[in-house]
Amino acid sequence: MGTIEDGWERRSVARVLPAVQPRKLAKVPFVELADGRLQGVVSSGSDIERVYVSSIAAGSHAFNCSTNNNRPCGGLRGAPCKHLHALLDEATVQYGVERVARYLRIDVADGASSGADLAARLNGAHQPTPAAVVFSRFLRHLSYLEVPGSTEPLPELHWFPATGTVG
Ligand SMILES: [Zn+2]
Repeated sequence: MGTIEDGWERRSVARVLPAVQPRKLAKVPFVELADGRLQGVVSSGSDIERVYVSSIAAGSHAFNCSTNNNRPCGGLRGAPCKHLHALLDEATVQYGVERVARYLRIDVADGASSGADLAARLNGAHQPTPAAVVFSRFLRHLSYLEVPGSTEPLPELHWFPATGTVG
């Protein structure tokens, strides 16, 4: 027992798991209706280290998607990429279809019940916007949720007073 290969495998598993674990909810770890935009952070489907900052402007529906370093998303080819679709999906989960539609001024008089319905009704064009503001808000948001450097699971109840004191 204990070949080199076994040890290597165990280490690589241990190395990967902590990075995934804290945000396993998080295809879209951050979404907000702010600054006249639906905007948020969407994790890359292929690279857990990479995130995209995606936004859709209210009214004009001008959209953008880039990495947090302002590198344009390769999925944007004149139409919203999969990250923007994911952002819309998550927004409708958190805020509800009608509220997102009202905020972005998407006409849903003919009925819309999902993020995909909203995406189909967008009529804007790609318009580059800086990612930095949204990304720094995302980092602040994270700083409330996580203890930096911790590899331990962080129980949600940690933030509430201990219930054991009642007895
Ligand atoms: Zn994208």
